[in-house]
Amino acid sequence: MGQRYDAFHRRSIDDRAGFWAEQAKLIDWHKPFGQVLDYSRPPFARWFVGGQTNLCHNAIDRHLAAQADKPALIYVSTETGDEHVYTFAELHREVVTMAAILVSQGVGRGDRVLIYMPMVPQAVFAMLACARIGAIHSVVFGGFASNSLAARIDDATPKVIVSADAGSRAGKPIAYKPLLDEAIRIARHNPASVVMVNRGLVPMELVAGRDLDYETLRAKHRDADVPVVWLESNEISYTLYTSGTTGQPKGVQRDVGGYAVALAASMRHIYCGNAGETYFSTSDIGWVVGHSYIVYGPLIAGMATILYEGTPIRPDAGILWKLVEKYRVSLMFSAPTAIRVLKKQDPTLLTKYDTSSLRSLFLAGEPLDEPTARWITEGLGRPVIDNYWQTETGWPILALANGVEQMSTRFGSPGVPMYGYDLQLLHEQTGEEVGVNEKGVVAIVPPLPPGCMQTVWGDDERFVETYFTTIPGKMVYSTFDWGIRDPDGYYFILGRTDDVINVAGHRLGTREIEESVSHHAAVAECAVIGVADSLKGQVAMAFVVLKDAGAATNPADATRLEREMMSLVDRQLGAVARPAKVHFVAALPKTRSGKVLRRAIQAVCEHRDPGDLTTIEDAAALDGVRTAVVRADG
Ligand code: AMP
Repeated sequence: MGQRYDAFHRRSIDDRAGFWAEQAKLIDWHKPFGQVLDYSRPPFARWFVGGQTNLCHNAIDRHLAAQADKPALIYVSTETGDEHVYTFAELHREVVTMAAILVSQGVGRGDRVLIYMPMVPQAVFAMLACARIGAIHSVVFGGFASNSLAARIDDATPKVIVSADAGSRAGKPIAYKPLLDEAIRIARHNPASVVMVNRGLVPMELVAGRDLDYETLRAKHRDADVPVVWLESNEISYTLYTSGTTGQPKGVQRDVGGYAVALAASMRHIYCGNAGETYFSTSDIGWVVGHSYIVYGPLIAGMATILYEGTPIRPDAGILWKLVEKYRVSLMFSAPTAIRVLKKQDPTLLTKYDTSSLRSLFLAGEPLDEPTARWITEGLGRPVIDNYWQTETGWPILALANGVEQMSTRFGSPGVPMYGYDLQLLHEQTGEEVGVNEKGVVAIVPPLPPGCMQTVWGDDERFVETYFTTIPGKMVYSTFDWGIRDPDGYYFILGRTDDVINVAGHRLGTREIEESVSHHAAVAECAVIGVADSLKGQVAMAFVVLKDAGAATNPADATRLEREMMSLVDRQLGAVARPAKVHFVAALPKTRSGKVLRRAIQAVCEHRDPGDLTTIEDAAALDGVRTAVVRADG
């Protein structure tokens, strides 16, 4: 770590109040806060207590004086050919209109609005409109299907759902409305109304008395004036569901003031963005990166942000760089998988366009392997900055704070602990700190800094239980990631300690997939694990014990059953969760106490040594897994 940054980081831990009071000046406050941090009820942290602010005001209204006619939201869809630049003034008008629509449907402060949308501008309008009126948005990734959506509807109990007829992927429309209708049918909770954006991609029928047409409402509320509702810093801005070890996703809950300050600070110290420049994140609004660095972060910094619907390789693998050239993008944020996809394409497309406006490319969401990091760094001739964080934290835990001090990148490492994070690497069993170059669990000594989750929506106990009780003898936040630290303080992330897998940067809980596969009538038992994949980082692999062991002996039957199980997962959870392969085995390897040995199965799939097997009940079960894997490898 450099000296200047080291001191900056140290101060953020030793003098939290002083440090964050300074950062808080980066945003507008309607009423100043009385106390920087209230940590009277560990591990719950309350930041900027008594202060009043608003995320929508900070993202839009406060830029109107100087930047009304400057681009704010740049929409590009290579799926539909739509391209539209909204200035701050235009974005303001659309957001106010959307806010008026929500208010007309009875939405007020503290009410939930669930947003199930493809990458369309109305999704951003809806998020910012919620923020404006103090409603709590809960965006559900468009790739999720009915059961995933229904679970989130029941947990968030939204008054209104905002959705659209369809998304589009690689030129093929994907109907959302039937999935939404089915989810509402399954869910116990019923929204009062559903606002539907009709893109004209697939025919859809509105349910009378429930569904409303967005364009009709928009025309009606076009001249509305909806003032910003000033919120106490610790009121809730949004919930975002994320997977963990149980089948039930957790609603990660965030505040208003702490989040705004954390994003503003990160835009300055980590991303180094300036007002008037353009930021391009290829993520999706359904993920945390989309919340923090498509919508709120860049806009709070007064930057234009690109909302992109499309893949990195259509119409060709130069599309991202073409957009960099066209919109003079200064900063870009993507995921390692996208770069690995590009690596397989024509390399001349990387240099075909003028990317001289680009200062840095940030990559996050999954491990960035060294060959990919080298390839893109050399190809672009720009710094490529890996950064590590989670839905729970909202902004990077590990990165380089080049805005504080220029730091060198180290291939394979997402960098050093960011200011505000008191990071430790702890021994899984003893809870003691491990030494340099020793593997430990990445843990954060609370209080968590501003911007991080406040709690699990509706379940304080689960928040404490899940995150703060897994390290023996210490109340520290576990990231559930393994890491090591080199002598210079650079960290390396070595994978999850729990049953969470990461497919192309998408975080999935294996339990959810297991539950879905188990819905198939032929399944007696099932285990899903993540297996290393050269393109997606990991893919899900299912091992199934059938009720009738003979049902899959014939290859045609096995193929049919596998297909049925895959389409079941598609329908219930979404194609992102679909296992790459379903193996049929006679038994699952388990410990004598009945716990499935997932790590051993994973090792076998990755052709590694499964390690200590003294607790295994029946060694033949693991042999069965091995045989199935070898057979599938051909
Ligand atoms: P999510 O909450 O979906 O953002 O997923 C967070 C998880 O993704 C982390 O706990 C890590 O396992 C993984 N992850 C995110 N960023 C990185 C990174 N830069 N390097 C390695 N793993 C990462």
